[in-house]
Amino acid sequence: MSKSGRSIPAPPVSPETRPFWDAAAAGRLLLKRCEACREPHYYPRAICPFCGSDRTTWLEASGGGVIYSYSVFRRAPVPYAIAYVTLDEGPTMMTNIVDADLDALRIGQRVRVRFTPTDGGPPVPTFAPA
Ligand SMILES: [Zn+2]
Repeated sequence: MSKSGRSIPAPPVSPETRPFWDAAAAGRLLLKRCEACREPHYYPRAICPFCGSDRTTWLEASGGGVIYSYSVFRRAPVPYAIAYVTLDEGPTMMTNIVDADLDALRIGQRVRVRFTPTDGGPPVPTFAPA
Protein backbone atom coordinates (compact mmCIF):
# COMPACT_ATOMS: atom_id res chain seq x y z
CA MET A 1 0.00 0.00 0.00
CA SER A 2 1.27 3.46 -0.80
CA LYS A 3 1.07 6.33 1.63
CA SER A 4 -2.15 7.47 -0.01
CA GLY A 5 -3.74 4.11 0.77
CA ARG A 6 -3.98 3.00 -2.84
CA SER A 7 -1.71 0.15 -3.83
CA ILE A 8 0.21 0.45 -7.07
CA PRO A 9 1.03 -2.73 -9.00
CA ALA A 10 4.67 -3.55 -9.66
CA PRO A 11 5.86 -2.18 -13.00
CA PRO A 12 7.15 -4.56 -15.66
CA VAL A 13 10.96 -4.50 -15.68
CA SER A 14 12.84 -5.50 -18.83
CA PRO A 15 16.57 -5.53 -19.56
CA GLU A 16 16.02 -2.33 -21.55
CA THR A 17 14.41 -0.50 -18.61
CA ARG A 18 16.40 -2.10 -15.77
CA PRO A 19 18.71 0.95 -15.29
CA PHE A 20 15.61 3.16 -15.00
CA TRP A 21 14.14 1.03 -12.20
CA ASP A 22 17.46 0.65 -10.42
CA ALA A 23 17.75 4.44 -10.41
CA ALA A 24 14.15 4.79 -9.22
CA ALA A 25 14.96 2.52 -6.28
CA ALA A 26 17.74 5.01 -5.45
CA GLY A 27 15.39 8.00 -5.77
CA ARG A 28 16.62 9.18 -9.16
CA LEU A 29 14.49 9.80 -12.24
CA LEU A 30 16.16 8.85 -15.50
CA LEU A 31 15.25 9.80 -19.05
CA LYS A 32 16.98 8.87 -22.23
CA ARG A 33 18.54 11.32 -24.61
CA CYS A 34 19.45 10.72 -28.21
CA GLU A 35 23.05 11.48 -29.12
CA ALA A 36 22.08 12.00 -32.77
CA CYS A 37 19.23 14.55 -32.50
CA ARG A 38 19.78 15.51 -28.82
CA GLU A 39 16.09 15.05 -27.92
CA PRO A 40 15.32 13.55 -24.50
CA HIS A 41 12.47 11.05 -24.31
CA TYR A 42 10.36 9.05 -21.89
CA TYR A 43 9.62 6.18 -21.44
CA PRO A 44 13.16 4.97 -22.01
CA ARG A 45 13.73 3.18 -25.30
CA ALA A 46 16.79 1.79 -27.03
CA ILE A 47 15.77 3.45 -30.30
CA CYS A 48 15.13 7.22 -30.40
CA PRO A 49 11.40 7.82 -31.08
CA PHE A 50 12.22 11.05 -32.95
CA CYS A 51 14.91 10.05 -35.42
CA GLY A 52 15.34 6.28 -35.11
CA SER A 53 18.94 6.43 -33.95
CA ASP A 54 20.14 3.72 -31.58
CA ARG A 55 22.61 6.13 -29.96
CA THR A 56 20.62 6.80 -26.80
CA THR A 57 22.14 7.47 -23.39
CA TRP A 58 20.73 7.88 -19.88
CA LEU A 59 20.11 11.36 -18.53
CA GLU A 60 19.14 12.21 -14.96
CA ALA A 61 16.08 14.46 -14.80
CA SER A 62 15.80 17.34 -12.36
CA GLY A 63 12.52 15.89 -11.05
CA GLY A 64 10.55 19.08 -11.65
CA GLY A 65 7.66 19.53 -14.04
CA VAL A 66 4.17 20.91 -14.58
CA ILE A 67 0.77 19.25 -14.87
CA TYR A 68 -0.22 19.12 -18.52
CA SER A 69 -3.59 17.42 -17.92
CA TYR A 70 -5.13 15.29 -15.20
CA SER A 71 -8.12 13.15 -14.25
CA VAL A 72 -9.44 12.62 -10.72
CA PHE A 73 -11.10 9.28 -10.00
CA ARG A 74 -13.47 10.02 -7.16
CA ARG A 75 -15.47 6.79 -7.20
CA ALA A 76 -12.48 4.63 -6.35
CA PRO A 77 -12.32 3.35 -2.73
CA VAL A 78 -9.47 5.83 -2.29
CA PRO A 79 -9.87 8.74 -4.74
CA TYR A 80 -6.77 9.35 -6.81
CA ALA A 81 -5.47 11.41 -9.70
CA ILE A 82 -3.66 10.38 -12.86
CA ALA A 83 -1.86 13.13 -14.76
CA TYR A 84 0.35 13.85 -17.69
CA VAL A 85 3.30 15.78 -16.32
CA THR A 86 5.62 17.67 -18.65
CA LEU A 87 9.11 17.44 -17.23
CA ASP A 88 11.43 20.44 -17.24
CA GLU A 89 13.59 18.50 -19.74
CA GLY A 90 10.67 18.33 -22.21
CA PRO A 91 9.21 14.80 -22.21
CA THR A 92 5.71 14.20 -20.87
CA MET A 93 4.99 11.21 -18.66
CA MET A 94 1.78 9.64 -17.41
CA THR A 95 1.93 9.36 -13.65
CA ASN A 96 0.04 9.38 -10.36
CA ILE A 97 -0.35 12.58 -8.38
CA VAL A 98 0.19 11.89 -4.67
CA ASP A 99 0.04 13.82 -1.40
CA ALA A 100 -2.18 16.45 -2.99
CA ASP A 101 -5.54 18.08 -2.39
CA LEU A 102 -7.34 16.59 -5.40
CA ASP A 103 -9.72 19.55 -5.49
CA ALA A 104 -6.84 22.00 -5.79
CA LEU A 105 -5.07 20.44 -8.77
CA ARG A 106 -4.80 22.62 -11.84
CA ILE A 107 -3.20 22.53 -15.23
CA GLY A 108 0.17 24.24 -15.21
CA GLN A 109 0.75 23.47 -11.54
CA ARG A 110 4.39 22.83 -10.54
CA VAL A 111 5.02 19.35 -9.29
CA ARG A 112 8.06 17.43 -8.13
CA VAL A 113 8.90 13.75 -8.44
CA ARG A 114 8.85 11.33 -5.58
CA PHE A 115 8.93 7.57 -5.56
CA THR A 116 6.02 5.48 -4.36
CA PRO A 117 6.41 1.83 -3.27
CA THR A 118 4.69 -0.83 -5.35
CA ASP A 119 3.45 -4.31 -4.55
CA GLY A 120 6.59 -6.40 -4.88
CA GLY A 121 8.45 -4.31 -7.44
CA PRO A 122 10.63 -1.22 -7.63
CA PRO A 123 9.12 2.12 -6.59
CA VAL A 124 7.46 4.10 -9.38
CA PRO A 125 7.89 7.81 -10.02
CA THR A 126 4.88 9.81 -8.86
CA PHE A 127 4.47 13.55 -8.48
CA ALA A 128 3.34 15.85 -5.69
CA PRO A 129 2.69 19.60 -5.71
CA ALA A 130 6.02 21.42 -5.50
ZN1 LIG B 1 17.10 11.07 -32.13
